[in-house]
Amino acid sequence: MGEKIRVVVAGGGTAGWLTAYSLVKRLGNLLEITLIESDQIGTVGVGEATIPTMRRFHQFFGVDEREFMRATQATFKLGIVFDNWGAPGESYIHSFGDVGQSNWMVEFHQYWLEAHANGFGGSLEDYCLELKAAKAGKFAVKVGETPLAYAFHLDATAYAGFLRKKSESLGVRRVEGKISEVSVDPVTGDIQSLQLEQDRQVAGDFFIDCTGFRGLLLGDALGVEYEDWSHWLAADRAFAVQTTSTEPPAPYTRAIAHSSGWQWRVPLQTRTGNGIVYSSQFCSDDDARETLLGNITGDTITEPRPLRFKTGRRINAWHKNCVAIGLSSGFLEPLESTSIHLITTALVRLMKLFPFSGSMVPLAESFNRDTQLEWEAVRDFIILHYKQTQRDDSEFWNYYRTMDIPDSLAHRMEIFKENGYVWQDDVNLFRAHSWVQVMLGQGLFPEHRHGAGRILPPVALEQELKKLSTSVNQNLAKLPDHNDFIKQYCPAQN
Ligand SMILES: Cc1cc2nc3c(=O)[nH]c(=O)nc-3n(C[C@H](O)[C@H](O)[C@H](O)COP(=O)(O)OP(=O)(O)OC[C@H]3O[C@@H](n4cnc5c(N)ncnc54)[C@H](O)[C@@H]3O)c2cc1C
Repeated sequence: MGEKIRVVVAGGGTAGWLTAYSLVKRLGNLLEITLIESDQIGTVGVGEATIPTMRRFHQFFGVDEREFMRATQATFKLGIVFDNWGAPGESYIHSFGDVGQSNWMVEFHQYWLEAHANGFGGSLEDYCLELKAAKAGKFAVKVGETPLAYAFHLDATAYAGFLRKKSESLGVRRVEGKISEVSVDPVTGDIQSLQLEQDRQVAGDFFIDCTGFRGLLLGDALGVEYEDWSHWLAADRAFAVQTTSTEPPAPYTRAIAHSSGWQWRVPLQTRTGNGIVYSSQFCSDDDARETLLGNITGDTITEPRPLRFKTGRRINAWHKNCVAIGLSSGFLEPLESTSIHLITTALVRLMKLFPFSGSMVPLAESFNRDTQLEWEAVRDFIILHYKQTQRDDSEFWNYYRTMDIPDSLAHRMEIFKENGYVWQDDVNLFRAHSWVQVMLGQGLFPEHRHGAGRILPPVALEQELKKLSTSVNQNLAKLPDHNDFIKQYCPAQN
């Protein structure tokens, strides 16, 4: 076997350690991996809500679910409760589960729309087990042999520590220190080495920029531009604060809209993560902090921590011999908990296209094209939550309600409003079930519908729907309480 390729991971937050771990776990005998991080700088320290794709990633990379959950105080997440988004006082759930039964021709909601128009069929919520389980505070990883669609809430710092331990035991070398300079070859434009303070240097063949919002390698050293999306996603600041738990953890994230921003509540086993996301155009830091502290339960464990960001992405996440993963490659905003997911998809993509030999240029092009499509699709889904609202109680909501949106999203919203059609793109993370739940939840109701609901006579349709909702209720009755399940499945390590 030839020489190992020297990979240098700059940064040790969630992105850095996920990168080091997945590379060493699957390509460890081909790569020599060094990770540089600075305790003095620290990590962003937030990022505690996830989506179900994390389970598949853990399976690919041999992470045992129960071990990971015990180490990170994790709880289960079946979806997100959105309060006050469509209108003040309204609430809906975007759950991870299937809603009813779809088929190749139409999504289930088309049958439900027909029933609804005829005065039967109840609520669309009656057809989703995960949604009803979230509301009832119940959970199990499966009912009978059928797994539930779930994700996790986790302690971000503990997660990085958990991955660090595993990575180091598999041979990743960790270097503590602050990167002060990036040496770039004047002829090829490739990065050659990273200069640390006290005259230390780490050379490499391939560099992964996980330096967070700083984007030290890809942005500062290689000059890859940042595409600003703040005209669509105006939030640019947050405060994060941890509180003691006052009740057993709920199996969902809460996203509470306020007049000039929104607040998250992420329940872990022994504490709760809270934060407020807002735009400095519409809200002062003092007002945001006060709103957050006025809407938490329990005692604060930490001081509210300010965070600043610009929504958007690097035009090319891979340039020369450097790829950016994590916040260095861009940030949407935490509303649908997609950042860790985007780290994991970038890693899988990188490993499929890893530059073992030959020209990197076509590999990078492929990586960048797929990344762009993926990010734009997630961006559209997040914008939908702000755009589709009846709220007119503040400048913030007036801005969002009336702003121009990307054509791709405008088309989706129009076709749904016109006749309820919805689809999942190849690159699109969010399934049709997700689009339907958010569109209806935010008050976008189709004016017309597909004819599939009229194929059966109404009486037969009603019977079919009844069967489905009964089966959901029967399965719901089999689920234990979420907290009881955690206690026996994955109690936190002290
Ligand atoms: C308000 C907010 C809420 C969020 N909520 C969620 C969520 O619910 N779900 C989700 O999936 N994601 C969320 N995210 C995103 C999530 O926090 C990040 O995707 C994740 O933590 C990865 O961050 P990172 O590792 O890229 O950056 P960081 O955590 O900032 O790590 C950067 C690393 O680089 C190192 N570094 C930087 N400069 C140097 C230097 N000069 N020398 C040496 N080392 C250096 C630092 O020490 C650190 O180790 C949220 C983000 C924000 C801002």
